[in-house]
Amino acid sequence: MTAVLELEHLSVTYETTQGGVHAVQDVDLTIASGSIMGLVGESGCGKSTLGRAILRLLPDNADMQGSVRFAGRDLLSLSAKQVRDLRGRNLAMIFQDPMTRLNPLMRIRDHFIETIRAHDPEVRPEDALERAKKVLADVRVPSDRLGMYPHELSGGMRQRIMIALCLLFNPALLIADEPTTALDVILEAQILQLLQSIMHEYDMAVLLITHNLGLVAEFADRVAVMYAGRIAEEGATVPLFREPRHPYTQGLLRSVIDLETTKLYSVPGEPPSLLGDSIGCPFFPRCEKRMSVCETVFPEIRLVGEDRRKVACHLY
Ligand code: ATP
Ligand code: SF4
Ligand code: MG
Repeated sequence: MTAVLELEHLSVTYETTQGGVHAVQDVDLTIASGSIMGLVGESGCGKSTLGRAILRLLPDNADMQGSVRFAGRDLLSLSAKQVRDLRGRNLAMIFQDPMTRLNPLMRIRDHFIETIRAHDPEVRPEDALERAKKVLADVRVPSDRLGMYPHELSGGMRQRIMIALCLLFNPALLIADEPTTALDVILEAQILQLLQSIMHEYDMAVLLITHNLGLVAEFADRVAVMYAGRIAEEGATVPLFREPRHPYTQGLLRSVIDLETTKLYSVPGEPPSLLGDSIGCPFFPRCEKRMSVCETVFPEIRLVGEDRRKVACHLY
């Protein structure tokens, strides 16, 4: 396995007037090139913060520690300009609502020309358009859409165009933060199928952040379950879904099956506040299997079972 991304002891704290919010704490995670890593967990557990930290797209009140190695380079040691060059070229991100990234006053063709020129100022407009047509064909969008404005396109079409804009420079890693949450279920599956096929064509890895465990089960090679800013469990998708080991993962999967819904909010209780320091297991107040040790001793990650799954729980 060649790693395209290696996070080590990655932590992000937001400084607020009430104190530090520990949105990501001591995360180790490796993404193999050409694979899909699903990142799941309840709202507020730090998924978007983790995705943005990789691209160094965090607000000014965020403090970041640890290491982010991308294609062998430590991103935290690069200058802001070097990171900007990598972003867009080698590393790309798509978000839930493409409308927030597309300029409503600009035709689709001008989005492509502008994006290409930002990295390649000398390019001629006709060559830029040829490149735009090529990536549009790859995301199965007819080239007549180049003449349209964003509002003339459907949500699914806009998301395809965002993906095409990301593909222009053949990135090694695409971070997709809830890319299909605004779409209906059929479009959702189509976009994921598309991502999976272009991933192979472009030899690109994807970090797929989502609430939708069904999508992860179908499309991800590995799954990382986040809880309270930390990785609770991480491993290959099939064994993890077949036999979830962390009580939080067990609760997430059970709630999907019980309610026949893709929303995750049925584990009883609420995630803890990420403000200030905590001791013990963050899942302790909600855990059906808690023991006295869990209240005071933090459970370090261990490699459990034949599939050497990462699990942060005193049961193992
Ligand atoms: P969702 O599923 O709702 O998108 P998430 O898992 O992506 O949630 P984050 O958005 O990463 O979670 O937020 C993690 C924690 O950091 C939350 O407690 C959130 O309130 C806090 N947070 C996010 N942005 C900031 C900020 N700019 N300043 C202070 N706290 C923040
Ligand atoms: Fe439950 Fe204890 Fe495991 Fe935490 S460490 S998930 S409280 S059993
Ligand atoms: Mg988020």
